[in-house]
Amino acid sequence: MGEAEHPLQAYLDALYLKYKPLSEGKLASYIPELAKADPDCFSICIVTVDGQIFEVGNADQLFTIQSISKVFVYGMALAEHGREKVLSKVGVEPTGDPFNSIIRLDEYSKRPDNPMVNAGAIATTSLIQGTDPTDRLNRMLDMFRNYIGHDVYIDMSVFMSERSTGHRNRAMAHLMRHFGMIDANIDEALDLYFQQCSLMVNCCDLAVMAATLANKGVNPITGDRAVPSHCIRDILSVMYTCGMYNYAGQWAYQVGIPAKSGVSGGILAVIPNQVGIAVFSPPLDANGNSVRGIKVCEDLSHQFELHMFDLPMGCSHFLQTLENKP
Ligand code: GLN
Repeated sequence: MGEAEHPLQAYLDALYLKYKPLSEGKLASYIPELAKADPDCFSICIVTVDGQIFEVGNADQLFTIQSISKVFVYGMALAEHGREKVLSKVGVEPTGDPFNSIIRLDEYSKRPDNPMVNAGAIATTSLIQGTDPTDRLNRMLDMFRNYIGHDVYIDMSVFMSERSTGHRNRAMAHLMRHFGMIDANIDEALDLYFQQCSLMVNCCDLAVMAATLANKGVNPITGDRAVPSHCIRDILSVMYTCGMYNYAGQWAYQVGIPAKSGVSGGILAVIPNQVGIAVFSPPLDANGNSVRGIKVCEDLSHQFELHMFDLPMGCSHFLQTLENKP
């Protein structure tokens, strides 16, 4: 007789069937290669901090990570340079503007608002250290490998597609170079940014990456450290306030979980000290977020009481904090 199905698996199977018929949303087409995605592809994966994996749908389907990479490269920059240096080049303010907006850069701050929008992400990427472009790319791939737990690859056709059409990103990079927010060679920094966006992952990889953030930076499957634990709070803070584009405020209000989405249709969400969640479904809403992904996360948040302000009752931790400090 087979083992009884775990209740979480049964719940995910039902959630998948609930949203599978949803046909709203459009594929991203401003990066020509992304328009070739299969709109029916849909998967959900949850990985716990003790390494259990629950998945449903085409969880092996590969896609490019796109903006979700911004989270991890931000962590790498924090680890390499420390918070003060990174803050001098990239802020932590939500914009309320689309992810590819250029307007605020020139009009207001000169410094990109936060590392989750394109301008801030390009500035963050330009901070990555290395002796030459190959060394920087290899160091970045090593970082991603630690989060994912196996070898990683870049989708060359998506990379080339973005590289030849990403004029808005190029314009932002030049503006930031003008304002002294980027010191590096512009073309090299942009190539590295397009490469990080073209990293190939599947839904399960994303959930392991999320679980690594939930697990204070240690991959719960391999036991390898991907990022120093002291960087986790900073990473999750910007995910919470800025991770869902110009939907970030409503997301914080309704779902209440640090998360990041990408235009290929992925959403990665972190429940600190508990689980990592990933959803993949390419059709996007007007803000650039996966339509099915938003629905799934809303349901999970309500069902499992995941909103950050639904913390369990009790004051013992608060009262003991000073006692535990010298
Ligand atoms: N590579 C994409 C871009 O730079 C990433 C955007 C996204 O996923 N929101 O436009």
